[in-house]
Amino acid sequence: MMCDVGSDAIHEGQWWLASSRSRNLVLSLLRQCLPHVDSIRDSECEDVYLWQTANKPPSPTFSASLMWDTIHPRSETIYWHKAVWFKDHIPRHAFGCWVVARNQMITRDRLIRWGLSVSSLCLLCNVQNENRQHLFFDCPFSAEIWLSYTVAANLSPPPLFEDLLRWIVKPNQEKNLNIIMRILFHATIQSRP
Ligand SMILES: [Zn+2]
Repeated sequence: MMCDVGSDAIHEGQWWLASSRSRNLVLSLLRQCLPHVDSIRDSECEDVYLWQTANKPPSPTFSASLMWDTIHPRSETIYWHKAVWFKDHIPRHAFGCWVVARNQMITRDRLIRWGLSVSSLCLLCNVQNENRQHLFFDCPFSAEIWLSYTVAANLSPPPLFEDLLRWIVKPNQEKNLNIIMRILFHATIQSRP
């Protein structure tokens, strides 16, 4: 944000800032942007403070939220955030789901990509290769747990994890059931080794 000032910032015929020897990049930029003092000194208008962000018109009102947004630009909203963070989540389970959603779980396919000499087989079934999709939803041991919940709720979830993250936000028209399913979804993920 910037503050516009007039003659109060002029001292002995030049800007106060102009006499600064600071090499600070912001101050250097400001020194370059300052208009000629004559146009300010001869003005009959009263000085006013104006706050301006990069893409908003100057305003006499300071906004803390606008300043925050300017200093911390918002990144793109992740499509699965409501599948992980919702009002009734269990913090430890939500954190586990967040790690898996970001595909940061240390599954064996990742260990092998890092160059570690480990078996690629799933720790649970010891038949298929272990990766996120297999460990959490395709492995017969995992599938049985998840299936027991979805069958009981008479729901048909998509098989792929990415699709599940979209689906689990609103698997049904019943609001309370949706919350329960999200909690169960987290618990299913949390139950993996
Ligand atoms: Zn398995």
